[in-house]
Amino acid sequence: MRKTIIAGNWKMYKTLSEAIDFVQTVKSSVPASDRVDAVICAPTLFLPSLVKEAEGSNLAIGAQTMHYEEEGAFTGEISPAQLEDIHVQYVILGHSERRQYDNETDEKINQKVQAAFKHHLTPIICVGETLHEREASNTVVKVAGQVGAALKGLTPEQVAQTVIAYEPIWAIGTGKTATAQDANVVCKAIRQTVQEIAGDIAAESIRIQYGGSVKPENVVELLSMEHIDGALVGGASLKPDSYLKLLEAGANA
Ligand code: PGA
Repeated sequence: MRKTIIAGNWKMYKTLSEAIDFVQTVKSSVPASDRVDAVICAPTLFLPSLVKEAEGSNLAIGAQTMHYEEEGAFTGEISPAQLEDIHVQYVILGHSERRQYDNETDEKINQKVQAAFKHHLTPIICVGETLHEREASNTVVKVAGQVGAALKGLTPEQVAQTVIAYEPIWAIGTGKTATAQDANVVCKAIRQTVQEIAGDIAAESIRIQYGGSVKPENVVELLSMEHIDGALVGGASLKPDSYLKLLEAGANA
């Protein structure tokens, strides 16, 4: 039985005081940790404060990106060692916005995934197709390729602990959601790819989220699908009441 994981991706939203207010508001209402994994992936600048604010609660804090090197001359970057040092637990890697605007390649994403495991960070690896690729029936080929590249060199045990977020690019921030059935088909194909790479146990254990215009109104149906184990949520994770509704749906899935 895979535990549902609901992760908010705040992107470049909120000020520090708004972020702290949010955590103060939600932390005592987060469902028990045996029912759902609740994560907020916040702007790097806020991470130490939010980790401190969330301490002792069931809310975990994640980063939205990181470099793969331990340290070095990489102006503006943040290292896996730095995230580990401040007790960040998760890191989103390969979000389509970073693939698009920051030249994050499959190869770099794989290096980052390996670095995450070295530093006890759980990677949330994003994969997904463009509208053009979907219309050309290339969704599964594209997504399976991204999954294979990202997981290269990992042990089956590491693969089992990984989280993959299937986010069709055309559904992000657009209000368009893949139907639950369509999303499930792709998530099933992802699980099959994982099975081919890392075996049955890893495929059964790995958690696959859907992302792209998830909100309280559609999350229950998405989570009812066999191969969808959670959600990566942008816009609808920014307000406490909406985020808590998503967690409640996750706890009851
Ligand atoms: P959205 O973003 O929920 O606002 O569509 C999802 C994401 O980019 O992770």
